[in-house]
Amino acid sequence: MLIIGLTGGIGSGKSTVADYFGELGVPIIDADAVAREVVTPGSDALREITAHFGAEILNPDGTLNRGRLRGVVFRDTAQRGALEKIVHPRIYADLRRRIAALDAAYCVVVIPLLLETGQTGFVDRVLVVDSPEASQRSRVQARDGLSPEEIAAIMRSQAARQSRLAIADDLINNDGSLAELRQQTEALHQHYLRLAAAAEKTAPLLHDPRH
Ligand code: ADP
Repeated sequence: MLIIGLTGGIGSGKSTVADYFGELGVPIIDADAVAREVVTPGSDALREITAHFGAEILNPDGTLNRGRLRGVVFRDTAQRGALEKIVHPRIYADLRRRIAALDAAYCVVVIPLLLETGQTGFVDRVLVVDSPEASQRSRVQARDGLSPEEIAAIMRSQAARQSRLAIADDLINNDGSLAELRQQTEALHQHYLRLAAAAEKTAPLLHDPRH
């Protein structure tokens, strides 16, 4: 199955685009949701995180205190590496399992930090939702009520707009109306259906016992 990795900075419009693909009947997998699931209480990942970072990384109810963990790994690349070594293989194994269970021409995996985690090889195509930074800021402010400083800090921690554009196979420019965003998504949907059909035509030969 054709796997599309959907990425973009905070407030770029990723979730909205994912919703539009969903309305077109495309299966959507959310890497952030998977990332939360792999560290639920009782999981191996949470046990390893606690062993490495200490029990102070937990909330009183035994769940992961994400804010505290983020504080530890934010400026410490070694600690961040240790955390990623624990969670990334599990997240990607889980994503692979979910994809294998699907029956569709193609699927969309929303991976906000696709570039930052260096996992672009996981997908067949990278779809970037791109947006002027001023629009990102005003949308996030309206959606999450964060201060300009908080939004700036998040944006600084994410890949730069130019480096995201550099890895894009496909691009959605979200600098207009929601109607235009939907229309670009629909056009890409047709494009992906054609790509998936073309791949389907050549792939069966590989499995044909006569060859
Ligand atoms: P992301 O998932 O990339 O953080 P969202 O899809 O949640 O971004 O979009 C952020 C907010 O901006 C949402 O409330 C969404 O409805 C709104 N939004 C996104 N694109 C547009 C647009 N072109 N016009 C108006 N509002 C938009």
